[in-house]
Amino acid sequence: MTRIAVSSRAAELPDLSDVLARRISVLGSTGSIGKNTLDVVAHARKVYGEDALPIEALTAQSNAEMLAAQARKFRPRVVAIGDAPARERLKDMLTGTGIEVGAGREAVIAAAARPSEVVMMAIVGAAALEPALAAVRRGATVALANKECIVAGGALLQDAIVCSGAAVIPVDSEHNAIFQVLNGGSADDVARVTLTASGGPFREWPLERMKAATPEQAIAHPNWSMGKKNSLDSATLMNKGLELIEAHYLFGISPSRLGVVVHPQSIVHCLVAYADGTTLAHLSMPDMRTPIAHAIAWPRRIAGPSPGLDLASVKALTFEAPDADKFPCLGLAEHCLRMGGRAPTILNAANEIAVEAFLGRRIGFLDIARVVEETLAAENAWNGPAFDLDSILATDRWARDTAGGVCARIVA
Ligand code: NAD
Ligand code: MG
Repeated sequence: MTRIAVSSRAAELPDLSDVLARRISVLGSTGSIGKNTLDVVAHARKVYGEDALPIEALTAQSNAEMLAAQARKFRPRVVAIGDAPARERLKDMLTGTGIEVGAGREAVIAAAARPSEVVMMAIVGAAALEPALAAVRRGATVALANKECIVAGGALLQDAIVCSGAAVIPVDSEHNAIFQVLNGGSADDVARVTLTASGGPFREWPLERMKAATPEQAIAHPNWSMGKKNSLDSATLMNKGLELIEAHYLFGISPSRLGVVVHPQSIVHCLVAYADGTTLAHLSMPDMRTPIAHAIAWPRRIAGPSPGLDLASVKALTFEAPDADKFPCLGLAEHCLRMGGRAPTILNAANEIAVEAFLGRRIGFLDIARVVEETLAAENAWNGPAFDLDSILATDRWARDTAGGVCARIVA
């Protein structure tokens, strides 16, 4: 299969001044990855001068106040807010700045199509698929933090990338680590790629206790500070399942050569084993600003705000196998990875609905896997491939409706 991260070896190294002149669009700038990206930009401006990494566009779904504050500080050419009624408020807050204000879903997609060199894709969920396509279709370099768009529409994105020649630099820490370790080498030489998982907050909890876990407990990640969905997905291990599918599409690694190991310290981010017995690992502190800085500056390196690694203070690195019985979401995702076709799209949509229901306290923690499993088992779920946008969106809607029905049954 074609892989998305086609090659991680650049033809030639650009001057650092050209790297620092890159215009950046940050889609989802008010979220965890978005704010970390602006932190990296602010740090670069402190180190290299105020002109470094100019911002083309910032977008958010509903937090007009934070978006306006970011716009006043970083001076993008345009801002877009997904929630259309917030437009007037946002416009008022940006009066006199000359910054163009857009609103609604189309404005977010249009922001991705603006002429920037790098698009940081930091929107959460499959809602990122259309903006990601818009960025890819104009041949941008996409720093891809969002994983749901690849899980929902991997084949479609692959085709678009091949057609446009866009570059995708993974930002998800494990995938950014794999990208760096492969360093342009052939995926065919790779015997096995292992993604590390922290194990989440419930790694040591008995199943009985997990049943009563609250949203607050589930999103309290031991190592990483992330948005609510990514944190909750880490607690169910669905995050690692989605990441296996992400790795398959990004690097063209077959499902049988992909695995997961639990590593509670989150210092080693991937292990890549080769046929000759060599295993290469990537290490850094668990701080998303490191892969973000890497993706923005690739193939050069810029100074980033995160602290370097001090192994003496970390002391021990430990590894263990994931517990498939306690974390069935991982097995469900592995099953969908092997099935291919529409299965990953359905898995992702059902999970998004289950996550929302759990965070809204309508279903219990263990019900998340049940909602996903019952949606996957529903009649017609495997009805052929879905490689074009309309059929992916239709599958996504079907899975959301079906999963919503399962949630309603659980509540009743
Ligand atoms: P978040 O919830 O903190 O932020 C999401 C951003 O997307 C916000 O700016 C929000 O306004 C915007 N948004 C939400 N719904 C939208 C919609 N329908 N249309 C347009 N914009 C919308 O999420 P996050 O933790 O920053 O994660 C972003 C993505 O990065 C996710 O796909 C996640 O899996 C991935 N990721 C996150 C981390 C992390 O450390 N947070 C690590 C690896 C990968
Ligand atoms: Mg990750």
